[in-house]
Amino acid sequence: MEYVNQDNLDLDEFNSRTKQKYIKEPINVFWCPKCRFIYIGLPDCHLAFIDANNLEKIRADFNRPAEFKCSGCDFIFPDVFLVSDQGYKFRVPIEEVRKSSWVWIIKKRKDFEARPIIRHKRH
Ligand SMILES: [Zn+2]
Repeated sequence: MEYVNQDNLDLDEFNSRTKQKYIKEPINVFWCPKCRFIYIGLPDCHLAFIDANNLEKIRADFNRPAEFKCSGCDFIFPDVFLVSDQGYKFRVPIEEVRKSSWVWIIKKRKDFEARPIIRHKRH
């Protein structure tokens, strides 16, 4: 299974949608292992975006020593979970992001995969 990583994020799209506000910040896509709520986190400035269609909806308690409770359920993320040896639990498969409203954060397939796209055309 292929997971989201820095190489397949469309940073131009992110910067455009956030009006270049966070252009120098590293970003992470992660999800809640319990309810699969997907976030975009900016660990260095403790922000997490919780709504792909409204980037004004931001949590300011992300990646702090205090508990980070999921916006979608009662799950409590462990401390520094993204860089811990439990980090794999929070990685999101690319296909799951594509199926979500966060689809725009993933580069178009041709940009990072050699796999041909098969189209069925009917004339
Ligand atoms: Zn959750």
